[in-house]
Amino acid sequence: MPVDLTLTTVKNVLTRTSGYLSTIASHSLQPYRGCTFGNALCGVGCYVRHNGHILQGRNWGSFLEVRTNAADSYRNNFAREANWARRERGVFSIFCSSSTDPFVPQEKRYQITRQLLGAMLELPPDELILQTHSPAVADALPLLAELNTKCRLRIHVSIETDQDRLPGLPPPTATVAARLQACQALKNAGIRTVVTVAPLLPLADPLSFFERIAENADSVVIDHFIEGDGSPTGNRTFRTPLPAAMAAINPRSITLAYRDEIVAIARQVMPGRVGVSIEGFAGRFSTP
Ligand code: SF4
Repeated sequence: MPVDLTLTTVKNVLTRTSGYLSTIASHSLQPYRGCTFGNALCGVGCYVRHNGHILQGRNWGSFLEVRTNAADSYRNNFAREANWARRERGVFSIFCSSSTDPFVPQEKRYQITRQLLGAMLELPPDELILQTHSPAVADALPLLAELNTKCRLRIHVSIETDQDRLPGLPPPTATVAARLQACQALKNAGIRTVVTVAPLLPLADPLSFFERIAENADSVVIDHFIEGDGSPTGNRTFRTPLPAAMAAINPRSITLAYRDEIVAIARQVMPGRVGVSIEGFAGRFSTP
């Protein structure tokens, strides 16, 4: 599908968080608006596809606004936002990104995320959580390794299932192996690396999946669309084709009992390294 690509500027690339995101970080940061992974597996249940403010009548996955001044905007707003965050939230912590992917394929050309990482090297936040579905995150390793010496850096790599293709659903952004390989490169560079199984999709072999994650990443976060999509009962996701496709593969997978069963297996394999839902996204890992 062709992408409607536009170059735009923003006044302030740092958005003060509210709602569930405020328990994770003081600010969110979107290098792009829209996401060209919108037609991949993760796009099917992506909660941003319901955000009319971002869509403005467009189809999710069909457009990308490139925020060409993102790095300058970060520099210009740094002092005010850092002061506010440290005063009001105790820490200046950035979640990048909650409504796009910092490593969409167009990042190779426009380098908006890389420019932002460069600005953060000059003016580091206290903490940066970089969330992506793309193994291309490992291409930014030199920048990330340097930033890791200047702030608390955590990379979240999303891998929702251990299968490269689920019947009735589009292919993922990259194979499971490619994403795990990226995790390994980041982890070997001493960067805190977390696999986010979010939303949890049907797994073929949970035990060996978590063994692979344990080898290649520091921790894992497991989140179900119920409680995890911003609505307590998963209503947002029930409006998409995702639950029906999941149920056709494994009827239990659309229940919270499935999440709990999978969490128990993960905890056997990775004791003390498993986070659940919002607690996990906030970096809190525990064994009950
Ligand atoms: S990469 Fe993230 S923002 Fe983009 S479609 Fe997938 S889940 Fe949504």
